[in-house]
Amino acid sequence: MKKYDSIIIGGGHNGLTCAAYLAKAGKKVLVLERRHVLGGAAVSEEITKGFTYSVCSYVVSLLRPHIIRDLNLTKHGLAILPLDVSYCPQIDGPGLARWDDPQKSKREIAKFSKKDAEAYPEFAMAMRKMSFFARNIVDQVAPNPNSFNPKELMKLLKLGGEFKAHGEDFLYLHNKLLTMSSADFLDMFFESDILKAPMAVSGIIGTFLGVRSPGTAYVLLHHYMGEIDGVFRSWGFAKGGTGGISMAIARSAQAFGAEIKTSAGVGEVVIKNGKAGSVFLENGDEYQADNIISSCDPRRTFLNFVGEKHLDTDFVKDIKRFKLRGSSGKVNIALDRLPKFNDGRSGTRHLRGDVAIAPSIEYLEKAYDEAKYGDFSRRPYINMVIPSLTDPTVAPKGKHVMSCFVQYAPYNIKEGPENWPSKKEAFGETVIDTIEEYAPDIRDCIIDKQVLTPWEIEKDFGMSEGNIFHGELSLEQLLFLRPTAGWAHYKTPIDNLWMCGSGTHPGGGIMGSPGELAAKTILKSGR
Ligand SMILES: Cc1cc2nc3c(=O)[nH]c(=O)nc-3n(C[C@H](O)[C@H](O)[C@H](O)COP(=O)(O)OP(=O)(O)OC[C@H]3O[C@@H](n4cnc5c(N)ncnc54)[C@H](O)[C@@H]3O)c2cc1C
Repeated sequence: MKKYDSIIIGGGHNGLTCAAYLAKAGKKVLVLERRHVLGGAAVSEEITKGFTYSVCSYVVSLLRPHIIRDLNLTKHGLAILPLDVSYCPQIDGPGLARWDDPQKSKREIAKFSKKDAEAYPEFAMAMRKMSFFARNIVDQVAPNPNSFNPKELMKLLKLGGEFKAHGEDFLYLHNKLLTMSSADFLDMFFESDILKAPMAVSGIIGTFLGVRSPGTAYVLLHHYMGEIDGVFRSWGFAKGGTGGISMAIARSAQAFGAEIKTSAGVGEVVIKNGKAGSVFLENGDEYQADNIISSCDPRRTFLNFVGEKHLDTDFVKDIKRFKLRGSSGKVNIALDRLPKFNDGRSGTRHLRGDVAIAPSIEYLEKAYDEAKYGDFSRRPYINMVIPSLTDPTVAPKGKHVMSCFVQYAPYNIKEGPENWPSKKEAFGETVIDTIEEYAPDIRDCIIDKQVLTPWEIEKDFGMSEGNIFHGELSLEQLLFLRPTAGWAHYKTPIDNLWMCGSGTHPGGGIMGSPGELAAKTILKSGR
């Protein structure tokens, strides 16, 4: 039997990133992916003939620039098309477009509130400062406050020093960001709902919390940290759909010598004398390696691949307590033509970025209320993009793709998650009904649609409880606590078994950092 230095379970973008870094360092690497296609939640697929859907994730911002350089991703086909506008339509009357150009945004915001227009640059500056600080943390293994290792202490001291250097106001604002709700945090700066609501939603994406739940302000920051082509805080589409990112990473890994197998679902990590040394595929094939590295979420990794009998009971309790609670769905639509929004705006320029159906804070909180009691929101938050306006390769000439990220669609509906298939049709219709209020001719434009509930996200994409980030990005599950205290450095209680997916620091989103940091940690350990 051929033996590898490392086997990586899962060919999502983090598994592929980990593989590329290890292969670049000269290691013999095998990636095993369960699906027929690579990318995990960062995938492009032709579900409707002629239309390429970014089936799950649809915009990119967090992918670390040094990873793009280290892995030559541009040479391997990565192209990001920047988005420069966020639009929030209203049912009747004009919507609000926020542009990358601060002066243009200021003018638009002033139509709704002069005070907010003045405060907007101040807010952007504060977030920018905090994001710069947060990026120090994203690009390194989480500091370990429990260690007396001089290197760890130095790391903490350095972070403390940088924190202090930003001054007293920064300290106060940072503490508020860590503890407040996104709505309350925004209330400190702004008064108009049309501005606050589409901004507040960044705090709830992928989280089973409402815009008024404490702790959501931090998640807001998570969505402010990215950059595209050196432009800070900007978002973009990957050309050819989000799968373009994963495929560029896969080509890079292969160019460095990694082997990749698709339709190769792992059923078990084989543990002998407390050590991992091989995996069994679901078809019974066995592959051996010195390191087994799982890019799947912590619950799947430990409770499915390893099994409770190999683990300490306290550790099992921690993994079971790790909050997944998927809360999102996705509806991908093939359009014969663009629908007309009833907002009086002409042209399509303002529709080239993301379009947020988030008319007010109250609307968002009501959407959460329904989800809290085990139902999907009858009027959900929808983050819509029409990538074909920017990248014509994803739809036939003159036609369009509309991608709708939807919240709330709680995994734990009151009938039990296994009953999601019987609610899927109604969920899809609710999304179209909601869009219809803003774009009344939407139904006439639809050729076909794909509906993903948290049930499909779990079953088809392997994300437990349909959590899009492999675990909520709430404070108690971040940094040295992700996924659990004591095991936040990619190592696991099983010797030679490692983790490299979004369930590890610094978390979910198309970032590549968990894959990169895991690979570097493994190489540093001499394995
Ligand atoms: C609907 C949705 C919308 C999102 N929108 C965005 C967005 O717009 N922007 C953004 O930045 N992030 C977004 N995200 C989050 C982001 O896509 C994920 O956090 C990220 O892609 C996860 O990457 P990963 O490599 O850690 O894990 P995954 O992508 O989950 O990869 C894990 C891989 O393991 C495979 N696997 C599972 N079981 C097995 C097995 N038994 N054997 C072998 N392989 C297995 C899976 O098929 C998968 O390919 C979204 C996610 C979803 C679901």
